[in-house]
Amino acid sequence: MSANLGSMPALELTKGMTVSVKTFYIETFGCQMNVHDSEKVAGVLMARGYRPVDAHEDADIILYNTCSIREKAAQKVFSRLGAFRKNGAGAGKIIGVLGCVAQQEGERFFERAPQVSLVCGSASYARLPELLDQLEAGNRRVKGLALDTEECFETELTRRDNRFRAYLTIIEGCDQRCAFCVVPMTRGPERSRAGGKIVAECRRLVDQGYTEIQLLGQIVNAWRDPGPAGWSFAELLAGVAEIPGLRRVRFTTSHPRYFTPEIVHAIDSHPALCNQVHLPVQAGSSAVLARMRRGYSREEYLEKIYCIRRSSRAISLSTDIIVGFCGEKERDFEETLSLLARVEYDQVFAFKFSPRPHTDAEGFADTIPEEEKSRRLTALLECQRQIQIRRNQALFGQVLEVLVEGYQPRLGQAVGRTATNRVVNFPGKPSDIGGYAKVRVTAVGPNSLVGQRVDEANRASLPAVILSAAKDLGSTLDWARGH
Ligand code: SAM
Repeated sequence: MSANLGSMPALELTKGMTVSVKTFYIETFGCQMNVHDSEKVAGVLMARGYRPVDAHEDADIILYNTCSIREKAAQKVFSRLGAFRKNGAGAGKIIGVLGCVAQQEGERFFERAPQVSLVCGSASYARLPELLDQLEAGNRRVKGLALDTEECFETELTRRDNRFRAYLTIIEGCDQRCAFCVVPMTRGPERSRAGGKIVAECRRLVDQGYTEIQLLGQIVNAWRDPGPAGWSFAELLAGVAEIPGLRRVRFTTSHPRYFTPEIVHAIDSHPALCNQVHLPVQAGSSAVLARMRRGYSREEYLEKIYCIRRSSRAISLSTDIIVGFCGEKERDFEETLSLLARVEYDQVFAFKFSPRPHTDAEGFADTIPEEEKSRRLTALLECQRQIQIRRNQALFGQVLEVLVEGYQPRLGQAVGRTATNRVVNFPGKPSDIGGYAKVRVTAVGPNSLVGQRVDEANRASLPAVILSAAKDLGSTLDWARGH
């Protein structure tokens, strides 16, 4: 018996018996919060009987979860939709746009891209079941665009893509008013989830086999417990880190304003809290920081760094930097370079300033030409590359524990991450994925390390490993060979 409706594919249940199943495809752009939002959206769809597919051609519903943090990111969804219009690939399918560009463009999407049937910002995800009801009833202009919510997006089912590292959003939205940033306008006001619920969910994740949990929020350390316990963020970290069986806890993104000595103390006293902090500085000049409305000066930021460096554990540091913000003088930029040299980050994510709609900086004068932004970005990345080479060289010969995340069959190599978030390649096998390995560092590059597993018999020769990583390692291989 077949109950095939229209173009919907049929799923075979038992021999000879099929039932129609609606399918969906989600493509995600942007940050980890978007990735995790998509996991929850997938959960909502699967709870309604939809099945995920890997190619948009096979889907009844195609969803784009978008990012508008920079102009380039925001354009991606329009190029996807443009391609559909050209080749007619979207015909007969429901197309939805989720996330920050959806919120930013709102109903204009329906005019700009008439093939779009659903426009929904992240602050309205709790309404998704109702919006899906409307779509299933045949409505072709469905929207969820309210921002004034106090709700978080909670679902019974989340389809996590990773089997051993689970993302968990603890705070949504953002109340900061950084002059460059579109997030408060696209994700709505800050809403924290109750501490008790977060810890209970972490316990469930550990019971399901996850050994690493990454707590997420636009400003993760602005989290305040709305529940009866009234925990601080540092107390939440300690509560999560004490769950038996949980080996690694990370959190991102921290704002310097809310970064307290108690957080460092929690890392000091809980081995399960990874010794890694991502603390976006954005600029090294106090004048630029004031124009950005970041709420701290260079000196105040450095105080936080000294506090982290005084920890009894070696805490790895990373940051975000924007170059070419309106009015950034050459001497301001040099202050950013000098901050990099002073802090010695292990990783830096650097971006050219991209003016965003409805932000304060949209109206700022004194814009920096694009070529000058590019020059500064290149100079900054080169400066940081040298720092990373030096810092990684200090790890040569050390034995590090990595959580194995992948395997490259062509190279016979496993790839994993240390607690400090460094990428390590080593000879391994597919079954290593999801487990922990002790690896001795045998070569280093600016962006990754190469090693040899020491908690098992050696299974591959060092030269093969070194060759496979040569692209990243470059000249530092010579340095490593000399040791
Ligand atoms: N909410 C976090 C904070 O304020 O620290 C970071 C969130 S954002 C997804 C990641 C990074 O994008 C920011 O830290 C910033 O460096 C960069 N960014 C944000 N707005 C930008 C803009 N208009 N142009 C260029 N980079 C931007």
